[in-house]
Amino acid sequence: MSQPISVIILGATGSVGRTAADVLSELGPDKARVDGLVAHRQVDALWALGRKLGARWVGVTDPEAGRRLFDREGGGRPAVLVGWEAIVAQGIGEAPPGTKVVGAITGFAGLWPTLRALERGLDVLLANKETLVAAGELVTATARRSGSRLVPVDSEHSALLQCLGLAQPFRRLILTCSGGPFRGWSRKALERVTPAMALAHPNWRMGPKITVDSATLMNKGLEVIEAHWLFGVPYDQIAVVIHPQSIVHSMVEFVDGAVMAQLGWPDMRLPVQVALSWPERWPLEGPSLDLVGRQLTFEAVDEGTFPALSLARQAGEAGGLYPAALNAANEEAVAAFLDGRLGFLAMEGVVRAVLDRPWPTGPVETLEQVVAVDAEARAVARAAMARWEAGTPPVG
Ligand code: MG
Repeated sequence: MSQPISVIILGATGSVGRTAADVLSELGPDKARVDGLVAHRQVDALWALGRKLGARWVGVTDPEAGRRLFDREGGGRPAVLVGWEAIVAQGIGEAPPGTKVVGAITGFAGLWPTLRALERGLDVLLANKETLVAAGELVTATARRSGSRLVPVDSEHSALLQCLGLAQPFRRLILTCSGGPFRGWSRKALERVTPAMALAHPNWRMGPKITVDSATLMNKGLEVIEAHWLFGVPYDQIAVVIHPQSIVHSMVEFVDGAVMAQLGWPDMRLPVQVALSWPERWPLEGPSLDLVGRQLTFEAVDEGTFPALSLARQAGEAGGLYPAALNAANEEAVAAFLDGRLGFLAMEGVVRAVLDRPWPTGPVETLEQVVAVDAEARAVARAAMARWEAGTPPVG
């Protein structure tokens, strides 16, 4: 029997983080040991999980919440680390060599710790697609320099990884997309979408940000950029097809025209475990996929009704810091929508307003470049939203 793997989960109390914790607890300590768990503010859930999984440390990124937990439980085991600096220095920095870091934080906040883990030479199992959208060039270059691997956890990219297997020459990657809760809706009907409606995804249970992204199809746009960086593929070789049943998780068309797909129930436990075990496969309990009597359908994306996908493609093709600006604009827009401050269709208006600005298209070599554009794009997005609140209509 091989040595157990050591694992850190960033974003342990979120949707993917909890799934990863379940998978690790199912695998047991002979197969996987939890070194550390990181959460933003949910300290009670974090502490319970840390105790249950026998973690060496738990880290809280919000200083106030972290101090509360430290006052209550500090000095015991798991050790309590407060704030990113301590988490990176004593958590990620002192993890056993070969530790795998599950990046399950949502949004731009995941970028810095992902870079630090890669710099230390640790493999990152990445569910945090915003990190690759905002800084794909920097993140992949950092991994190459230290020899660490970036392994996808996103279900589509996990499917692509599984189909590609022994790196075979391919023609196209075909990402599947459920179409979200509003597939087939008109623009007129979309005007009245509320946060509660957008948060009811037909196939997947996920956190609020990605669920809203799935409803606008921005999620698929972010995933196209993610695939570009993970697999080093030009944008014109990444296709998207609507597949409402979410059974085919993505496909690869090889140079001889053969197409391989990965199928399964929509359940994040599989992509999480594949990322942990890759290139091996480990047993995972669950119902077998029964295709008898089941219809699997495919249709084109309605890009006129859901322009977010093409906005993301445009940003990706423009390159440089355009994807970072796109990501920042989208994060601001989604937060405002969830807050009830912005309409559903106005989210794409925010992204357009930001992409209308010129952004640098040269090489992206430092975190500072990305952070500066992220901040500037958020300011442009907020200014646009403030103007609309003052009466300028957000969508034409
Ligand atoms: Mg996905």
